[in-house]
Amino acid sequence: MSLRIVVTVKYVPDATGDRHFADDLTVDRDDVDGLLSELDEYAVEQALQIADAADDAEITVLTVGPEDAKDALRKALSMGADKAIHVEDDDLHGTDAIGTSLVLAKAIEKAGFDLVVSGMASTDGTMGVVPALVAERLGVPQVTLLSEVSVEDGVVKGRRDGDSASEQLEASLPAVVSVTDQSGEARYPSFKGIMAAKKKPVQSWDLSDLGLEAEEVGLEGAYSVVDSAAQRPARTAGTIVKDEGEGGKQLAAFLAGQKFI
Ligand SMILES: Cc1cc2nc3c(=O)[nH]c(=O)nc-3n(C[C@H](O)[C@H](O)[C@H](O)COP(=O)(O)OP(=O)(O)OC[C@H]3O[C@@H](n4cnc5c(N)ncnc54)[C@H](O)[C@@H]3O)c2cc1C
Repeated sequence: MSLRIVVTVKYVPDATGDRHFADDLTVDRDDVDGLLSELDEYAVEQALQIADAADDAEITVLTVGPEDAKDALRKALSMGADKAIHVEDDDLHGTDAIGTSLVLAKAIEKAGFDLVVSGMASTDGTMGVVPALVAERLGVPQVTLLSEVSVEDGVVKGRRDGDSASEQLEASLPAVVSVTDQSGEARYPSFKGIMAAKKKPVQSWDLSDLGLEAEEVGLEGAYSVVDSAAQRPARTAGTIVKDEGEGGKQLAAFLAGQKFI
């Protein structure tokens, strides 16, 4: 039977762009360009390698995000994923991590899955909590932060590298894994891949397709709320130490003054 892999991919604001909060203190996503979260490219790459090693596998990429989030799906499809699901609904505006995990879990259940592959964190929110929340909601094991991953005989295996030791972990499928940026370079889409992606199916679901009510998500359903936000202060000119024989001492005094030493 085909191994059904769902990869969760997030469309994030381009970090090189000028990002702002909107009046309701949510991230203003309308004024900035976005892209597939770089850390999710590793998840797509690992899913492709798992699929290559399997007799028969199908990769679905899934995103919860605004209209433009289709760009993230297209990129993942051009890398080699088979099909895509886009959950989009105006009522998702302001959804927090708990709400995002609810929507993802409902969509994953509806799509059907043996293995969910996620990134270690998004490059905008960077909470690194969504894979664990999704696993809990699906009621399946989670093996997170893997720098190596493979699937054999209905078991997902991987290595998690810590500061002082590496663990070998495994879980029976169905399961959720997240992979780190140490799991292996993500491939660039080939021209053939980009052309093929244009013809691959992208399904759109809204909250009602997932049996969810508006008040379960969005700002109304959010457990975490941003109370205030301030623009980062402009950079000030640095301190230049001119070495006229006392440079070392002056540097040490500067660092001590800043409590670095
Ligand atoms: C339209 C919209 C509006 C939002 N507005 C707000 C807001 O106002 N305030 C707020 O706090 N949050 C908001 N969110 C949610 C927020 O952007 C994050 O998705 C959520 O808080 C998860 O946190 P994170 O990005 O740190 O995920 P992490 O836990 O760091 O992500 C880990 C992994 O989970 C997966 N993942 C995470 N998010 C998604 C996603 N959306 N789709 C697919 N896979 C995903 C990826 O594989 C990712 O690598 C909104 C989300 C959407 C879609």
